[in-house]
Amino acid sequence: MNNKQKVLIIDDEKTNLKILSGILKGEVEVILAKDGETGFCKAKELLPDLILLDVIMPKLTGFEVIEKLKNEASTSNIPVIFVTGQLDVQQEEKGLELGACDYIQKPFHVEILKARVRLHLRMAKQRDLLEKLANIDPLTSVANRRLYDQTFDSLWGKAIKQRQIFSLVVIDIDDFKKYNDFFGHAAGDRALEKVATAIAENLSSSNDFLARYGGEEFVALLPNTLACDAIKNMNICLEAVANLKINHDPSAEHEFLTVSLGGVSYLPIVESCQDTLFKIADDMLFKAKVNGKNQVVWQDSVKGS
Ligand code: GH3
Ligand code: MG
Ligand code: MG
Repeated sequence: MNNKQKVLIIDDEKTNLKILSGILKGEVEVILAKDGETGFCKAKELLPDLILLDVIMPKLTGFEVIEKLKNEASTSNIPVIFVTGQLDVQQEEKGLELGACDYIQKPFHVEILKARVRLHLRMAKQRDLLEKLANIDPLTSVANRRLYDQTFDSLWGKAIKQRQIFSLVVIDIDDFKKYNDFFGHAAGDRALEKVATAIAENLSSSNDFLARYGGEEFVALLPNTLACDAIKNMNICLEAVANLKINHDPSAEHEFLTVSLGGVSYLPIVESCQDTLFKIADDMLFKAKVNGKNQVVWQDSVKGS
């Protein structure tokens, strides 16, 4: 597998592209673009770890390219270094103000250029790692509440735009307090981890998203999923947990550790419905608990049932 970091070089001068790629190709994967528009498209498509950007180019200038990159969610965090022959301090200031992380003037010293590229790539790697750590629940390795909030907003926005049915499920481990009291908190932690993995591994689409909402409660977001398909998938997840056959406290409702699931499917119209959707799923979860746990209860708001 190629795990080299990717550097996109955008420059209208063929010779510059050749020189820069010659300098960097030994240590990184180099992507070339000979104008601003192509560079922006490649950045969006290939999500490089770093961009080296020329300032003066026909059509889109480097300043216009960086503005486009910063305005696009997927590329806004990619570090950009301007590499330019312009010696104007105001231009440099403008570049940095527009969000460039560095400004290298031509003619440059090869080793200095390499060192700066390495530095920014290292910082990008650290930032990615921090971002990952900030978004993952350390016990279960599924997404945490923080990432859930962000993901819900973006998936919901997409569902509104594309007028697609959205399903949301709240999943709660049954009688988990009893499990902890009987087997101890450390065993509880291990069980929690296994349950999360069983659910995550049985989600039917790569677009589905699972997060630990808090404690022994999870939430699954199933974009573009009709109630019938969501219910089918959630029953598979329920079975997967039951099939782990984790012995439960003898006084619990079921012999093995189980989960209850409350779900709702909805055609989103306005953004304010997000809270309502969660509330409905939570009400369905309550029904599942009252009905004897280890089951899926659903409200298909599309059909009004
Ligand atoms: P119900 O079937 O109604 O959901 O009952 P329950 O006992 O699962 O629900 P309750 O809310 O009364 O208790 C939740 C338990 O989950 C209590 C708490 O100690 C346990 N729990 C929450 N987070 C963790 C965790 O990170 N590790 C462990 N081991 N236990 C946790
Ligand atoms: Mg519970
Ligand atoms: Mg709970």
